Amino acid sequence: MQGEMEDKCGIVGFHCNDESRDVAPLVYYCLYALQHRGQESAGIATFKSDIGLNYYCGMGLITDVFRDYEIHNLPGNMAIGHVRYSTTGQSKIENSQPFVTDFGDGFIAMAHNGDIVNSEELRKELIDEGFYFKSDCDSEVICYLLKKEHYDNDKNVLAAIEAVCSKLVGSYALTILVDGELYAVRDPMGIKPLAIAKRDDEFILASETVAFDVINAEYIRDIVPGEVVYFKNNEINSYMLESAGKCKLSHCMFEYVYFARPDSTIDGINVYQTRMNIGRQLHKLYPIDADIVIPVPDSSIPAAIGYSRASGIPYGEGLIKNRYVGRTFIMPTQEERELAVRLKLNPIKEAIKGKKIILIDDSIVRGTTSKKLLDLVKEAEPAEIHFLVGCPPVISPCYYGVAMATKKELIAANYSVEEIKEQLRIDSLGYITLPALVDAIGMPEEDLCLGCINEVYPTKIPEGLEAETYYKP
Ligand code: AMP
Repeated sequence: MQGEMEDKCGIVGFHCNDESRDVAPLVYYCLYALQHRGQESAGIATFKSDIGLNYYCGMGLITDVFRDYEIHNLPGNMAIGHVRYSTTGQSKIENSQPFVTDFGDGFIAMAHNGDIVNSEELRKELIDEGFYFKSDCDSEVICYLLKKEHYDNDKNVLAAIEAVCSKLVGSYALTILVDGELYAVRDPMGIKPLAIAKRDDEFILASETVAFDVINAEYIRDIVPGEVVYFKNNEINSYMLESAGKCKLSHCMFEYVYFARPDSTIDGINVYQTRMNIGRQLHKLYPIDADIVIPVPDSSIPAAIGYSRASGIPYGEGLIKNRYVGRTFIMPTQEERELAVRLKLNPIKEAIKGKKIILIDDSIVRGTTSKKLLDLVKEAEPAEIHFLVGCPPVISPCYYGVAMATKKELIAANYSVEEIKEQLRIDSLGYITLPALVDAIGMPEEDLCLGCINEVYPTKIPEGLEAETYYKP
């Protein structure tokens, strides 16, 4: 069975007390700062009391989607926004967010980061009740459940959110516009990040704190797992779901390893510091004699700096990334696929030739990137290649919103470290260990979701649920 379209994304919520202000341009800048969380589509929904709801979504980067015209056609002092991640699943406008529904008696606009593992079952129930779905998104499922509880069953918004969340299994960070109010919800396991900031009389919610920095807002705190936040009387109001505090915390470790920007702080832990620590831990595990430590840009730069500082081996660039490569076409031939890799990364031959190099990457998932990358590096004729990886072997899929790969695609699920080393044809290969990674993050192991590396998932996974693979040229 194909899993539903997953939503591993960046979300924003904006509440300004001054009704004469239009906040869409600010949401745009917040989404711009979260662009690394999703490049497939982007969208903003705004609300103004005398005008109502407006929204605009499109495919591509935030700068492709919004021009002056679109932004200025989104009036309102309240808004939500979304950037969506690309997967090999269907890439279509219907799946872009915010997801907006207008019911005649009201509307709901919702931005979702996460993945609801039982959404197939919930969707079937809703279809049986006469709901018609226009997307593959599980966000639409959440939206209709909310519509049912709030508008049909006449529950107030908080009671409706409580009823809906009691049915959801999986990960969700949500920003919601309903009844002209902004709400934010974080699942009780805290799998996906969501934080809140303040700027004058504005409150801002975002997946990562880097969105606050860009508009010079002051970070206040992370949304507590299982918390619903809303802004009546221009204050932060908080409601705790019944499930809050009753389930195991499960913060996604992959946010720290790869997904989040290094200048973000998630649940009190700075991502850059964590990645530096990963480098230090790699040095403790693999104290290799080498001439230079080289990162695979950009995500591995802090780990390479950490290794270099711990070892005294100079840090140096050896691969240059073309930062203007966006989505390339899906390349049908081998030659074109190779071209795409060369377009993205190019080795500095002069920095590598004849040297014993330590190359550091944040993770190996399917192994295809590493193979291509190492072929490029070998063309520059290093004396030795030692490849170190900042994430333990990924042996199992993620069902909570990081589209990694199916089990059969995951190289470490199918081969031993020694076999992978042989396939990569390098002098040594070293993965960080799980305890060393936990140490680097600095959070108790039991508060992390480590499902992709130890197969211990924080929820039940429905039988037959298939994981998705991310898109990468
Ligand atoms: P591969 O082993 O070919 O799947 O590629 C692994 C590389 O892709 C890692 O070094 C990361 O930089 C990046 N990566 C890992 N996980 C993801 C993901 N879920 N989405 C996009 N890129 C990823």
